[in-house]
Amino acid sequence: METILAPAPTEQVSPFAVIEKMNHEQVVLCHDADTGLKAIIAIHNTLLGPSLGGTRFWHYANEADALTDVLRLSRGMTFKSSLAGLNLGGGKAVILGNPKKMKNEALLRRFGQFVNSLAGKYITAEDVGVDVNDMDIVRLETEHVVGLPEDKGGGGDPSPVTAYGVFLGIKAGLQFTTGNDSVGGKKVLVQGVGKVGYHLVELLKKDNAEVIVHDISEDNLRRVAHDFGVEVLSKDEAHSLYETDCDIYAPCALGGTLNPTTIPQLKCFIVAGGANNQLLEEKRDGKALAERGILYLPDFLINAGGVINVYSELEGYNRERALRHCERIYNTALEVLTIARDHEQTSHQAALELATKRIEAIGRINKYR
Ligand code: NAD
Repeated sequence: METILAPAPTEQVSPFAVIEKMNHEQVVLCHDADTGLKAIIAIHNTLLGPSLGGTRFWHYANEADALTDVLRLSRGMTFKSSLAGLNLGGGKAVILGNPKKMKNEALLRRFGQFVNSLAGKYITAEDVGVDVNDMDIVRLETEHVVGLPEDKGGGGDPSPVTAYGVFLGIKAGLQFTTGNDSVGGKKVLVQGVGKVGYHLVELLKKDNAEVIVHDISEDNLRRVAHDFGVEVLSKDEAHSLYETDCDIYAPCALGGTLNPTTIPQLKCFIVAGGANNQLLEEKRDGKALAERGILYLPDFLINAGGVINVYSELEGYNRERALRHCERIYNTALEVLTIARDHEQTSHQAALELATKRIEAIGRINKYR
């Protein structure tokens, strides 16, 4: 190994200030010069159990964006797993770079070694830019990995289970607002028809909903239009997407689509979708939706099907068991919406508090283990 002089100290930035902000337990920077690996593993909270969350391989504009993303996503996993009743804490990892150019066996295995060095405190899985086959490679270096292919004893692609949870979240929202949970005849706008959106459209169409879809991928639009005969927003109409006349808006693409620009445009009375971090700014935008009388089903509450599915692998995978567990989302959603109404809170705040209550209660009894 070449000896390199340490650079002169520059302006003080407290790394602890960064991880104290959202109350993270541990943040690990991983670097390997040979493979070019640069990764960050963020462990937010392990009071309920080992932290679990996928690895995102993404070409971030800069390192600060990567850090912000992994910190926000890992915190989200803590609340998601708690609300889903799982014995898991929140964690997440990001690998910095373009997966199309950088992803190879050595880099993934080196990442697996870093995961392994945490001795089970962090369990990884797939996320954007990483698939089940990549996890199979990571597994060569660590047993702390889920989201494996079905022929390796894993649950395969978790998105059908995620979509099922989102579908149940929509139904709970309808039950809460109209006293009837049928999606039949309801107009649903699905933004993003990738893995989750596709399966959500399938479930909605099966129950006779009227579905309108939008995606930036022509291929994905063609596929869903062909398979389910849904209405597609043309490119010309896409600029006024948020003004589409509908009952339910289901964001299934990116985060941050609920913000001061889009919220005033919405015509729906329910927002319920699979995308992570839909509220650009949690407090402000959750409140803006409530003030407009739009019922918001918090993303981390209704998109938990994916983590429920991979959790099932830890107990020996069984799709039926995962689906049954996922069905609890319906009642939890009704509970959250009722708390929000009774306490005059936003649904997002009510969901966060319910999740925190379980973490604190189980955290207290876990200290006697
Ligand atoms: P995906 O990449 O398969 O699908 C995303 C789709 O959104 C793609 O078709 C893409 O073309 C489209 N898209 C991207 N930008 C868009 C834009 N500006 N407008 C319209 N469409 C756009 O991803 P996925 O696995 O379906 O995940 C979708 C969302 O759900 C993500 O936010 C993800 O983090 C979240 N999520 C997924 C799972 C899961 O099980 N896959 C679990 C929990 C949360």
